[in-house]
Amino acid sequence: MKIIMLGAPGAGKGTQAKKIAEKYQIPHISTGDILRENTRNGTELGKKAKGYMEQGLLVPDTLMIDLVVDRLQQKDCTKGYILDGFPRTIPQAESLDEALKELGQKIDVAISIEVPDENIIRRMSGRRACVSCGSTWHIIHNPSSREDICDICGEALMLREDDKPETVQKRLAVYHSQTHPLIQYYTDRNILKEIDGTKDMKDVFDNIIRILEV
Ligand code: AMP
Repeated sequence: MKIIMLGAPGAGKGTQAKKIAEKYQIPHISTGDILRENTRNGTELGKKAKGYMEQGLLVPDTLMIDLVVDRLQQKDCTKGYILDGFPRTIPQAESLDEALKELGQKIDVAISIEVPDENIIRRMSGRRACVSCGSTWHIIHNPSSREDICDICGEALMLREDDKPETVQKRLAVYHSQTHPLIQYYTDRNILKEIDGTKDMKDVFDNIIRILEV
């Protein structure tokens, strides 16, 4: 099963993608996670991406496309995968289609998690991320057991630079102008499915599974 997750930043793509990956035993490929790991480790890619990410802008397509196409050719992707955060622009989607054609593959479904901007801004201000392992928490919906301390590795939790309200506004504007056109792109290819992302996490997951198991 080859799945793309679409939706604004903070719509819950990552949370749902992780659960789907677990259920179907396929890799969860999050370009945001890959980039954050690279910035934490100070790699060349990380150094190039950092400034864009902190400002709520997209990292240039040229850096993203090769990264994802390489990842999809790794052994663990033969059974399928779930792409979270890629593609994010029409050129990324077109390059992905071309690369998959060469590999004799195609995407089965693009799931768009729909959440209004007002809900997103409220949700993101409560998000906290671990400075060390990168795991994410939420002060109301998914709190760690000790305030501002990561349950996984014991390091500090912080409001990520790109989750600050002014950056979230910028990321939403970028989403509407550059990423939202993908809804039409995948509608035209008859693989788009829309999901109401305002429901609680479990209902959203059940609705996704219902779509995948049709
Ligand atoms: P995310 O965790 O998916 O919201 O990604 C965090 C940040 O990483 C985004 O705001 C972008 O700066 C960058 N990023 C992640 N995926 C992409 C992509 N496919 N194209 C460009 N930039 C990306």
